[in-house]
Amino acid sequence: VTAAGDSTLREVFEHSVTSGSGSGMPLLIQRTLAKQITLGECIGKGRYGEVWRGLWHGESVAVKIFFSRDEASWTRETEIYSTMLFRHENILGYIGSDMTSRNSITQLWLVTHYHPLGSLYDHLNRHSLNHVQLLHLSISAISGILHLHTEIFGTQGKPAIAHRDIKTKNILVRSNGMCVIADFGLAVTHTQTTGEMNVANNPRVGTKRYMSPEVLDQTINMSIFESFRRVDMYAFGLVLWEMCRRTVSSGFVEEYRPPFFDMVPSDPSFEDMRKVVCIDQYRPVIPMHWESDPILSGIWHLMKECWHQNPNVRLPALRLKKSLLKLAMQDPSLNFRLDF
Ligand code: ADP
Ligand code: MG
Ligand code: MG
Repeated sequence: VTAAGDSTLREVFEHSVTSGSGSGMPLLIQRTLAKQITLGECIGKGRYGEVWRGLWHGESVAVKIFFSRDEASWTRETEIYSTMLFRHENILGYIGSDMTSRNSITQLWLVTHYHPLGSLYDHLNRHSLNHVQLLHLSISAISGILHLHTEIFGTQGKPAIAHRDIKTKNILVRSNGMCVIADFGLAVTHTQTTGEMNVANNPRVGTKRYMSPEVLDQTINMSIFESFRRVDMYAFGLVLWEMCRRTVSSGFVEEYRPPFFDMVPSDPSFEDMRKVVCIDQYRPVIPMHWESDPILSGIWHLMKECWHQNPNVRLPALRLKKSLLKLAMQDPSLNFRLDF
């Protein structure tokens, strides 16, 4: 895919699919990934298309089907997954991308590992958590974000990547109780040595409910990559709040609610969000009983450092991961182990 010079990903795929014809191999298309997959049921609908469970070589896979008008998002996500050293136990596992035609409509597919528990959003709606489950989910999720954010230097390195759409619907839950980060359609990459930043020019992308103050009021400095890492950390602070609310403590637990549920309507506008987050500088409040719970009050302090108004003082992913690990280790009765 990278050897194509300035041709688009789509052209590369079209070429690979049609190059067999005329050479006595017109059926080459039959061997592409899409043709090997039998679709089962629809498991998710997002902004850019649908996600289906499929069967590939006798194994369930997830197939994200983009409408062809959202080619840019498919291209971006395919590019990100094709990044060197992108594989990580807390990043959704990638199998491949393909173009296919169904009912004579072009479809763009992105095939990944399938996780039957679905998104963290679904999981929190269906289940409450105990402390160990909360720590596993939060530490694994921040480990995925840390891997994204970190540039790896070497002959086969990895650029730093910022996600730009962190939320519970874009984090999936593995059957072992750990999270993987998914949905890289808006991600940006950065390489320090060349200073090269691969970024779209629209500042207000992502999900409005999770947008940081500097994105909402457009004061974000888009020429500095660090700005995008801090946007991710703001959103992850809200994710921590969503998880903690679903954690049972001294017999108490809250219903699932999205961040700012009590402050903005169900499909908030930029203006709704800007008023609450930038002008009134409101942040989610905590239930009283968290104060007497060392884990929940510990995470409460950390989430405040993630969603700080001033992006420069927000916790970086590594600091947050270490702080969460420390909290987990402090309580010997949790018997918290890292070798999950
Ligand atoms: P979009 O870019 O349209 O938001 P996502 O990649 O976020 O698409 O997927 C939409 C939803 O589909 C997710 O919120 C999740 O519920 C479900 N989903 C996506 N990928 C998987 C997967 N690999 N396994 C299980 N469910 C998935
Ligand atoms: Mg999504
Ligand atoms: Mg997306």
